[in-house]
Amino acid sequence: MQPTLVVAGATTAGGHTVDIVIAGETITAIVPAGEGPDDCDRIDATDRLAAPSFVEGHIHLDKTLLGLPFIPHLPGETVALRIAAEKALRRTLALPIEERGGRLIEQIAAFGTGSLRSHVDIDTEIGLSGLHALIRLKERYWDLVDIQIVAFPQSGVITDPGVADLLDAAIREGADLVGGLDPAGIDQDVTGHLDAIFAIAGKHGVGLDIHLHDPGPLGAFELRQIAARTIALGLEGKVAVSHAFALGQIDDFEFGRTAEALATARVAIMTNGPGPVAMPPVRRLNAAGVTVFAGSDNIRDAWSPYGDGDLLRRAMLIGYRQDFLTDASLAHAFAMVTEIPAAVLGIDHYGLAPGKRADLVLLAAASLPEAVAGAPLDRTVIKRGRLVARKGMLAPRD
Ligand SMILES: [Zn+2]
Repeated sequence: MQPTLVVAGATTAGGHTVDIVIAGETITAIVPAGEGPDDCDRIDATDRLAAPSFVEGHIHLDKTLLGLPFIPHLPGETVALRIAAEKALRRTLALPIEERGGRLIEQIAAFGTGSLRSHVDIDTEIGLSGLHALIRLKERYWDLVDIQIVAFPQSGVITDPGVADLLDAAIREGADLVGGLDPAGIDQDVTGHLDAIFAIAGKHGVGLDIHLHDPGPLGAFELRQIAARTIALGLEGKVAVSHAFALGQIDDFEFGRTAEALATARVAIMTNGPGPVAMPPVRRLNAAGVTVFAGSDNIRDAWSPYGDGDLLRRAMLIGYRQDFLTDASLAHAFAMVTEIPAAVLGIDHYGLAPGKRADLVLLAAASLPEAVAGAPLDRTVIKRGRLVARKGMLAPRD
C-alpha cells in the first residue's frame, strides 16, 4: 500500500531517531531518520518523542459536568450518600450526556488518548438511557477514540431490584463488560452481588470491571472471592477491579494471599492514584505477578471537582504517590497509561511497530522518564493515520 504519511525524525523510547511510515490507518515501517519516503504528507517530529496513544483505563463519560457552569461539590461523605446526591443532581442537568461526554472526548483526544474504557450508570430510574447515549458517542467519535463500555450498577444490584436484568440487557444491546460495585458496602450481600454479575458475564462470555472501595480485610476477602469466581468461569485475563483501596490497607499475610489469588486468576487492578486514601502498592503487586493499570476515573462530576483526563499527568500523579524516582519507575508509570491498559482492554492492534495501527502521540520530551516527570502539553496526536490534534487543539473533523 502506498504511504500516506511520514512522521519524520521522531525519537523512540529506545533513543533512536526514526521515520515512521504510515499507509492509511497502519504503520507499515519504522526506518532510520531520513530514509522514509518523501512523496506523501509529512509531520516534522524533530526533537519529539513518539509513543503509542494513551489508553484510558477507567472513565465515566456519562457523569462529567463539562460544558456546564462549574457546579459546587455536593456534600456526601459516604459512597451511599454520594450516590444519592448524584441522582438528585442528574435530574436537573441542562445538558444531555452526548453534549457533556462529547466535550470530554474532545478534550482527552487532544491530550493524546486514543482508546478508553468508560463505565456507564445503569439503574432502575434511568434504565439503559446512559448506555444508548454512550453508543451514540462511540459512533460519533469513532475517528478520535475507540470506546469500550462497562455496564455499571452505580446504585447496586441487590438493593435496586431489576438492575441485574438491566445489566443483562445492556450486554445484549452493546455494552462490552459487566460492572460491579462494593458487594459488601453497597449491597451488603457479597455472595448475592457477585453471583449476579458473574452469572451475566459467564452467560455472555464477557469480562468484568468491578468498582471496589470496601476497605481492609473485608475488601481483601472480596478480592479473593472475585479471583475464585474468575477461575471458576474461565474468565482469567478478562476481569479487572478498580480502586481496590484495601490492597493498601492490609497486613503482609492478607496482602500475600490476596495478591497470589489475583495473580493466579489474572485479575488486573486499576488505580487513579487517589487522594487521601490508601492505594494499591503498584510495585509490590507487580512483584507478586499482578497487573496494575491506570485511569482518570471521575472528571469534573458529582464525585470530584478535579481531573481533566490528561493521562500523562495521571502517570505523573501515580508515580508521585508511589515514590517512583528512578528512570525505570518513571517509564513504568508511562506504561501504566499506554501498553498495560492496552493489554487489559485487549487492543491487539496497539503499539509503535510495523503492522500496528497508527495511533500515536508525539511529545516534547527526549525520553519516557522526562515525559512523565514534565508532562509537556505540546503534543501532536495521530489517530488512525490522521492528524487529529496539535498543541492541545483538535484539528477540524470531516
Ligand atoms: Zn469509577
